[in-house]
Amino acid sequence: MPYDFDLFVIGGGSGGTRCARIAASYGARVGIAEERFWGGTCVNVGCVPKKLMVQAAEYASWAEDARGFGWDIARGGHDWAGFIASKDHEITRLQAIYKSMLQKAGAREFEAHVRFIDPHTLDVGGQRVTAERIVIATGSTPNKADIPGADLAGITDDLFYLPRRPDRIVIIGGGYSAVEFASIFRGLGSEVHLVYRQPLPLRGFDGDLREALAEAMAAEGIHLHHGLVPTHIMAEGPTGDERRVHLSDTTDILADFVVLTTGRVPNVTGLDLEASGVALNAGGAVQVDRGSRTNVPHIYAIGDVTDRLNLTPWATAEGHALADTLFGNNPREVSPENVPTAVFSVPPLATVGLSEEDAAQLGPVDIYVTRFTPMRHTLTGRKSRRALMKLVVDQRSQRVLGAHMLGEDAAEIMQGLGIAVRMGATKQDFDRTIGIHPTAAEEFVTMRTRTRVAGVAEAAE
Ligand code: NDP
Repeated sequence: MPYDFDLFVIGGGSGGTRCARIAASYGARVGIAEERFWGGTCVNVGCVPKKLMVQAAEYASWAEDARGFGWDIARGGHDWAGFIASKDHEITRLQAIYKSMLQKAGAREFEAHVRFIDPHTLDVGGQRVTAERIVIATGSTPNKADIPGADLAGITDDLFYLPRRPDRIVIIGGGYSAVEFASIFRGLGSEVHLVYRQPLPLRGFDGDLREALAEAMAAEGIHLHHGLVPTHIMAEGPTGDERRVHLSDTTDILADFVVLTTGRVPNVTGLDLEASGVALNAGGAVQVDRGSRTNVPHIYAIGDVTDRLNLTPWATAEGHALADTLFGNNPREVSPENVPTAVFSVPPLATVGLSEEDAAQLGPVDIYVTRFTPMRHTLTGRKSRRALMKLVVDQRSQRVLGAHMLGEDAAEIMQGLGIAVRMGATKQDFDRTIGIHPTAAEEFVTMRTRTRVAGVAEAAE
């Protein structure tokens, strides 16, 4: 039976558009549907506007720090509405680029909700469409923890469109979004309270990095409430616009805005997946193998809806590999190992490979750590910008298993180190590399003295 499309992609975010565009460029007849905004979370309510907000926040400290270099820059106020308008203008431009790239590649776009009628048939905004192969790329959505009064709190999507900057904000959660928005609002001048249930933010990241981040955030004036969860949130004030967050230690915080950054859930609601036969895993994500294949042979899933590595570059890499495999005569899979990642806190942190804690489970590791004040801040005196760099090295093979950094430009530096770690570089390869002086990055190739040994053979040494 001839199908309307060779490939139909559900979701016009980073992963979906890449897959559709590449497949169409190989000559496949491709349809793609997006029901909310082209570019998905990353472009509209994620990476892109978040990074612009981080940059907006950084200017305040730069204006202050310039004094250390002889400048007399008066720090004026921040025009929130003006900034949001500029940010929105840029997002609209990017949305249009996403759409035009699809059009140029020859894909047909639909602005519609999609649901399955049967494994090859979709309802696309009321229109019946058939496809030989289907890709589910519907992303994820912020998930509010189940707390009494949660409806009085916002989600991260809301933070991009607030009519004014809250003077006092409570951020609940200790993940990527929590620390990024804590830095953003602090930089813009808000009183910020970060409430998280672990002893340190960013569970799963390297312990030294987490500690250094908490120190830096505290030095920036962010109020850290660790080991606590909110018990309930209440409305207060003459107009009911204020929020009081009650915590598990019986203290409370009064704020103008509360945001729950308590994770994300895969977007599968409303897809009528039962009609497709596609199976979900216990966490409610679409279950796939390393080739993005679901249990139904012609249906695939990529990106956040599969809840593995919820990172834009991972989703685009998966989408691209899938299009190459299906239509480009180049079957390939993307490796989830050694994926570099960054958290755009202020200062930012970035990491590739294994944390000390995870590596130590596998065997003895040599640990190299350095902490220092970056050159700029020897003159500014800003204490919160001390940098930390760390290498986790397998003792037997001397392979660098993990590289971690907290400090300015961490994300920019880690991208290159990601190549070295992925290629299996050893500590001696790092040592043989000549530094670029004077930079912070050169520390990664000049750490000569082992800080400690960790891992299972530690006691034997
Ligand atoms: P995360 O999954 O990273 O963090 C969720 C946080 O909420 C954790 O600290 C978790 O605590 C806490 N939490 C969960 N449930 C509860 C609860 N019931 N009560 C109290 N705390 C709770 O979520 P994010 O929304 O920050 O980010 C989602 C994903 O999106 C990230 O994991 C990342 O993959 C991606 N992302 C990437 C960014 C980047 O690349 N820079 C930026 C933002 C997001 P605990 O640790 O104890 O479970």
